[in-house]
Amino acid sequence: MTVLEQPFMNWGWGDIARPMIIAGPCSAESEEQIMQTAADLKANGIGILRAGIWKPRTRPNSFEGVGTIGLGWLNRVQQELGMKVSTEVANAKHVEEVLKAGLDMLWIGARTSANPFAMQEIADSLKGVDIPIVVKNPVNPDVDLWIGAVERIMGAGITKLGVIHRGFSSFEKSRFRNVPQWQLAIEFRRRMPNIPMICDPSHISGCTELLHEVSQKALDLNYDGLIIESHCNPAKAWSDAKQQLTPADLNVMLKSLVLRDVKTTAAQDTSLEELRLQIDKYDDELFRVIGERMKIAEQIGKYKKDNNITILQSSRWNDILNTAIEKGKLQNLSEDFVSVIFMAIHQESINKQTVVMNGKD
Ligand code: PEP
Ligand code: MN
Repeated sequence: MTVLEQPFMNWGWGDIARPMIIAGPCSAESEEQIMQTAADLKANGIGILRAGIWKPRTRPNSFEGVGTIGLGWLNRVQQELGMKVSTEVANAKHVEEVLKAGLDMLWIGARTSANPFAMQEIADSLKGVDIPIVVKNPVNPDVDLWIGAVERIMGAGITKLGVIHRGFSSFEKSRFRNVPQWQLAIEFRRRMPNIPMICDPSHISGCTELLHEVSQKALDLNYDGLIIESHCNPAKAWSDAKQQLTPADLNVMLKSLVLRDVKTTAAQDTSLEELRLQIDKYDDELFRVIGERMKIAEQIGKYKKDNNITILQSSRWNDILNTAIEKGKLQNLSEDFVSVIFMAIHQESINKQTVVMNGKD
């Protein structure tokens, strides 16, 4: 990912060490819980609190947040602990209340950023606002939808911006609660290189065990910040209990992360350059080989046409895939990876054969 020299410079929050850390409970539950969690976080070096007070929940009849009363608790955190405070908004009414309460930042959740009407309503209500606005990726893996959500906020004249990568819903079972699909965040960054990218390892992981791995990966991909759920008593949390750490445990986790140099030295540049040249060489070779393979696929298409055979021969395709997976194992390539690559190659072959079958001789 591209590297922003001073990602949060225009937020006007002074010198923010990289990565910026935002932490706090999934939900504000009581004044005591907020004050205790915030004080413990502060004692562990965290200066920016997150806490949801309006909670968009997947199923009805679960805790949907304490609502407006929580804003007063966040004000107490600002006044008594000198921390910055942030919460999630999902409509214009929320925005109005957050602005009236003078919170320091607001974020838009994944269910809301997937909805252009809701995004436009929020954007319209933000005209003239000067606090940082942060947009989570939509629940579905659609980079354009995410970019569109950010463009609506930019269209309202907001310049203090950020985005949060919190992973994507998937029907398929995975070890993550929301599959990270890192390449989508990288693609977002390629297309909007000047917006700070924050990772939300909590909602990607869904459990505390994966938090370190996901956070480290984000740092290795040059993310500018992390937003992590932390609760003074995770086992008793009213929402997302399994993924929250106590402030002390969060501190231990953060301390164990390795912050690698963003910048390379001249000597490192040279060896990196050499390795990249080798990669480029292999990429050229890959394209040449795949191109040759497609030419053969076209010849097969011609044969099938001349002999009136259908394009798809399921047993042959099964053989190819199974053999590829076995060969992949010998090269230390995962089954998932080989399957995805071969399904894409097979689809392209089918497309080419379809053109041959339906084309004129
Ligand atoms: C949250 O931050 O607690 C939350 C609801 O997250 P998301 O919008 O990413 O699901
Ligand atoms: Mn949560």
